[in-house]
Order: sequence, then structure tokens, then C-alpha cells
Amino acid sequence: MTNKYDVIIVGAGPAGLLAAKAAGLAGMKVALLERKSEISSLERMCGQTLVSMNDYYFDDLVQYNREGKKIVFLNNGFSCNYEGPTQNCYAWHIFSPNGNRLAFGLPEETRKKGDYGAVGLAYDKEILFRCLLEEVTAAGVAVFTGIDVDEVSTSDEGVTVSGSNKSFEGLYAIAADGTNSRIARQLGYNRDRTFYSYLLSKGWYMRNVKAPSMDILMSSITYKPVAPGYMFIFPRPYDDELNVVFLALDARVNLDEVADYFMKENPFTAAWFAQAELLDMHASAQYIFSPIAAPYRKRVLLAGDTGSCQELENSGAMISGWKAGSAIAAALKEDRVGTASQGISNYIQWWQKTYIEKCPHEAYIMNFALPYVLDAAEDFNYICSLVKEPLPPCWNPYAAMNHMGALVQSLVPTIQQERPELMPKLARMSQPMTEILADTTEACKPPAHFD
Ligand SMILES: Cc1cc2nc3c(=O)[nH]c(=O)nc-3n(C[C@H](O)[C@H](O)[C@H](O)COP(=O)(O)OP(=O)(O)OC[C@H]3O[C@@H](n4cnc5c(N)ncnc54)[C@H](O)[C@@H]3O)c2cc1C
Repeated sequence: MTNKYDVIIVGAGPAGLLAAKAAGLAGMKVALLERKSEISSLERMCGQTLVSMNDYYFDDLVQYNREGKKIVFLNNGFSCNYEGPTQNCYAWHIFSPNGNRLAFGLPEETRKKGDYGAVGLAYDKEILFRCLLEEVTAAGVAVFTGIDVDEVSTSDEGVTVSGSNKSFEGLYAIAADGTNSRIARQLGYNRDRTFYSYLLSKGWYMRNVKAPSMDILMSSITYKPVAPGYMFIFPRPYDDELNVVFLALDARVNLDEVADYFMKENPFTAAWFAQAELLDMHASAQYIFSPIAAPYRKRVLLAGDTGSCQELENSGAMISGWKAGSAIAAALKEDRVGTASQGISNYIQWWQKTYIEKCPHEAYIMNFALPYVLDAAEDFNYICSLVKEPLPPCWNPYAAMNHMGALVQSLVPTIQQERPELMPKLARMSQPMTEILADTTEACKPPAHFD
């Protein structure tokens, strides 16, 4: 049996849920299809922090209304419920392998400003999913779980979406099936995208970690594996809990070895984990491609990570989902009243201006690619040793790279004098990412069917 809808949304992550809410509230007949059997269960690794709480991100400023229990997007004028616990994140500190620190903010200062000193907000994503699902259902959206969409066919009049032996017909579809989207691939987008590398992650919620601070974000780097490995520590909104995540861009890296390095071998960090209790484990694996510049093709609009390089972050995905749902609702109304269409083109323009132009994907990847530029532990230790003052408080991957670039510029005279051999390495920061990651790209090519 075929079910008929105004719009079919594939994927009930942050983007798909917000798209469904927007289209549902506009009175459209919406079907939301999700592969997972439980929308509120978190199956893919996520740091579960809101990026960013102290500056504009995706042209929006995010506010958490504690009393009303709502995440509010002040510029785009929408909100969603979140009734779970939260933990302010007051700074982001990057540690070099020997423990030298590069600080985006000092928590002893930012804590004084309370909520307004936070750079990010840690929350429980499973509770967020539950709250969003309640809102989506209240907006009249028909939710179908356990549907693994494997085919999307389109005509001039509409879209047929099929999976798990069911078919759904819609006038439009929104692909919110996340990074490495099957729908984007089927629509032929990947043929025009540049492939860079993997992003692999594995990590645990942990208790009893004796980290320098429980309310800041922390990260570090190891050069020990065949390619760089990373540790990111995210605060959790539960007493004495952290979310400790190990990552690599290169499939040749064994993440268990990366975890062992930070938790057992590195004298600076191993002490933190001596008594650690490992709780739930999550993981993720994805290819990193250049983003999709024109996210609409054949009556299918792309939202959230589907069209992104690696990730829009949860806040970016929610904004994009809300705007995509509203754009399709506008397109449906335009068709029905017979007015000139602009809903979808407005979304495309917004995507290009807000994401493609203002959030360069190579700057995003540089957050992970720095150790490919400074390719020895002692280089990174040395650069961090020169940093005497904190950088501005920040948990925004694009702004962070701007601060980092300015920092490196300010250090150039000292480096030229003390370690001139580092200058050619630093110059690589301005090379194209295809050159910086060339070895990893070559080693991790996706299978041909990803085109
Ligand atoms: C290691 C790591 C750490 C991160 N940390 C943070 C962080 O601290 N803060 C932050 O803001 N962001 C973080 N992110 C990014 C964040 O998780 C994503 O940007 C966000 O989840 C994107 O939302 P989305 O709705 O676009 O996609 P997703 O969350 O990926 O949702 C896609 C949905 O589509 C479903 N789906 C996929 N394929 C199909 C199919 N064929 N049929 C039906 N359903 C399908 C999936 O099951 C999923 O529910 C992190 C990501 C990683 C990998």
C-alpha cells in the first residue's frame, strides 16, 4: 500500500525533527521516516554540546531558557523544548602531548558570568530527541520508525520514497538522513564532491575521571599511531560524568590504541584515568566530503548534515531543518495559491550565504588537520609553550580557527628567531586541504559505489 503526503522527511535526527515540526505546524501532511526503531535512542556518537553559546553560529544566537526549558534560536525566531539536565561548558582547552595548554577562555573568569559565560551547553541528546518527538507528534506529523529508506524516485509531480518493504508518496521530500546520506548519493551529488578522509570515533561516558576541570571542553593530540589521533572530552550534565571520545581521520588508525595512549601511556593524561569507570560506549564512522553547494534537486531538499562537509553541529542542523521544513511548506502553499515560487530558492540562498560562504569547510577540517601541519609532537609542544595569554572563550569551530590563525601570525617573529625550521610547516596551513591530507586521502578512498 502507498501512503500519500505533502512532504516526506527522511531521518529523525535534529534536522529531520525540526523540519517535521516546522512543516507540521504549518498544517502540511508530513511523514517522518526513521531507520532506528526508537527515535530517542542515541545510536551514533555525539559530543552532545550546543555549539556555540557565546557567539553567532549559522547566523543565529542560541539561548537556553532555563525556566521555560526551551532552546531558543533568537535570530531565526523558533524554539524547541528541552526538559533534561544541562551543564555549562566554560572554556575549551587544547593540550599538547606534554600538557602545554592552548586555552580558549579561562573558566575561573567565564564562570563569573554564569550562563552568559558559557561557550557551549552540554545536554542529554536522548532527552532532546524525546522532547522533539513529542513536539513533532503534537504538530500532527505521522512518524514511521524502522524504515530504512533505500530508494527515492522522483517525477515532475512528486517523489516516491521506499524502504523496508513500504512506499510513501509525497509532493516533496526532505533528505535529513545525515552525513554520508544515501539519498544525496542516489541523487548523484557525490560525483561532484571532493573526498578528504574518514572521521572515525569511539568513546565512553566515564565516571571518576580526575580531569583538570569537569565544566570545560578539553582536547589533545597524539602522534603515536600511523596518523594523528585525538581525544575530546565533553562535560556531561550528570554528576561526575564526562563523555570521552577518541577520533582519527585515517582508517589505518586503531582507536583502541589511541584510547590506550591517552588513558594509560601519556604521563600527563593517564593520571586522569587511573580510577575511571567506563559506562556506555558510542562510535561513528563517516567519510568527509566537500559540502553540497546547491541543496535541492528533483523535488528533494537537503537538510542538516546531509549536505554538509562533515557536520553542521546540532545547532546548525536544527536551524537548517527548521528552515527546510518552512521552505517546503512555503513551496506547497505557493503551488496551491498560484503565486511565484521563492520558498525553496530562499532556502538555497540562505544555505549558500550562511554555510557555504561564511563557514568554509576547509577551516572546519583544519580543526582536525593541525597535527598534519605541525607534524611532530615537539612542534605542537613548542607552539603551545609560546602561548602566554588565553585566546577568546570559544566553542565555535570556525571562529576558533580564525583565533588560531591570528595567534600563529603573532608568534611568527619569535618562531622565526627560535625555530626557523618550523616556518615552512606553518606555511602549509594556507595550502589546500587536499594537499595537507593527501596521504590520508589516498589511504582511505571510499568504495566506488559511494559516487
Ligand atoms: C564524534 C562526534 C562528535 C560530535 N560532537 C558534537 C557536539 O559536541 N556538538 C554538536 O553540536 N554536534 C556534534 N556532532 C555533530 C552532530 O552529531 C551532528 O551535526 C548532528 O547530529 C546532525 O544532525 P542531522 O539531523 O543532520 O543528522 P543525524 O543526527 O545524523 O541524523 C540522521 C538521521 O537519519 C537516520 N537515517 C540515516 N539513513 C537513513 C535511511 N536510509 N533511512 C531512514 N533513516 C535514516 C539516522 O538514523 C538518523 O536518525 C558530533 C559528531 C561526531 C561524529
